[in-house]
Amino acid sequence: DQPAPAYKRVLLKISGEALMGDQGFGLHPPTVERIAREVKSVQELGVEICMVIGGGNIFRGLSGSAQGMERTTADYMGMLATVMNALAMQSALEGLGVYTRVISAIRMDEVCEPYIRRRAVRHLEKKRVCIFAAGTGNPYFTTDTAATLRANEMACEAIFKGTKVDGVYDKDPVKFPDAVRYDTVTYDDCLAKHLKVMDASAIALARDNNLPIIVFSLDEPGGFRGILAGEGTYTRVHG
Ligand code: UDP
Repeated sequence: DQPAPAYKRVLLKISGEALMGDQGFGLHPPTVERIAREVKSVQELGVEICMVIGGGNIFRGLSGSAQGMERTTADYMGMLATVMNALAMQSALEGLGVYTRVISAIRMDEVCEPYIRRRAVRHLEKKRVCIFAAGTGNPYFTTDTAATLRANEMACEAIFKGTKVDGVYDKDPVKFPDAVRYDTVTYDDCLAKHLKVMDASAIALARDNNLPIIVFSLDEPGGFRGILAGEGTYTRVHG
């Protein structure tokens, strides 16, 4: 007998870079499939899953505008990049037999569904994985903020932020071997100490709605499922 998962509905946020494997750019299908398997294993626990995937493996608004492009145009390109990642993840999940919907903040009805909140909730109730694409639909935001927004709208109990390391550290654990991982940390400490969790507007939005952020390693096989089953190491960001 499995213990009941600690959460009934969660949102998994991953960066676009999580999908590029060891390449410097774009999509690495075996990596996409590996993450899809992690998602499937959590879905099998009966957890309802939302996903938000960044676009940084394809395009980032800030780098576009640094090259002279208008910021808003560059941001729209970044949002379109997230749609490509969402479609790749949908394809991988469907290959594993997981029903999935891509739901875009910018209408593109031939490609995916538009965002209609009640419809998305219904998909979740039917155990379909909902991948929210195109960020918030607005320039000057990030997919971290989009993740927090959608997690609130979908009444998720937590955001799971999958990263390369198993939590939030006081300094970069890749550069400093003496870095210390926090078991828990407050939103305010994240903001005051500039800890690398999510950008400030996303953390503030989570704080204002008391939405916990679980930072964990996506590189750890079975890690996502383990946390939902009450195991593993991670950092819980809370009020
Ligand atoms: N973006 C945006 N509005 C949003 C979400 C994203 O304009 O609500 C754009 C922005 O240009 C950003 C890009 O999409 O640089 C890719 O998203 P993000 O940088 O969050 O991706 P990640 O770093 O998670 O891969």
